[in-house]
Amino acid sequence: MTRPEASDADARDLARASADASATDGFALPGAPDAFERFWNAHRMAYVTQGSDQVKDEHTCPFCAAPQRSDGESLIVHRGRTAYVVLNLYPYNPGHLLVCPYRHVPLYTDTTAEEAAEMAELTQTAMLALGHATRAAGYNLGMNQGSVAGAGIAAHLHQHVVPRWTGDGNFLPIIARTKNMSQTLGETREILAGVWDEAAADHARRQEANARAAAERAGRGDEDRP
Ligand SMILES: [Zn+2]
Repeated sequence: MTRPEASDADARDLARASADASATDGFALPGAPDAFERFWNAHRMAYVTQGSDQVKDEHTCPFCAAPQRSDGESLIVHRGRTAYVVLNLYPYNPGHLLVCPYRHVPLYTDTTAEEAAEMAELTQTAMLALGHATRAAGYNLGMNQGSVAGAGIAAHLHQHVVPRWTGDGNFLPIIARTKNMSQTLGETREILAGVWDEAAADHARRQEANARAAAERAGRGDEDRP
């Protein structure tokens, strides 16, 4: 039996239903609840259809393109002077952030002193923002450089900031290689962007305290010197 062709009226109904869905919360939509949880991972289609092999230069690089669109469209959490912070489209955990220089450079050794310093500052502030917003219990930081080292987009340097919680490495990611995401990336971006200024103020206070502690230690060092 063949399926009948969808008519124009059907297409209009579909378009209306999709507009309704975007304007209505989930509780008002029809559905039949059952005992199963679901993993929504349609975003991975982008990974399947737009592999990293397609990144040839600045013009095809997602990290160069992201700052040219709006924060919401690109999932940008914060824009600095020489670097910016963006949500990873393929998160290991909810809130997985990337700190990227605006310049299209592959290696950490290609950064200027200012870029390296700002990447460090944004990484620390990203950790504080994740701490404020999600009460992360730990963090993984890292830069994979070169495809052999596991860089998905090797042509454009990026630092991973991954929040960790007790029990987040359960059987799903380990056995089934599937992560359960309880929030959309758009929602996560809004939450993190909303706490960024507070995290930046916290960062400035901590820097002052750290500088005082370091100065005290240096002072003691002078006295101890023969
Ligand atoms: Zn780039």
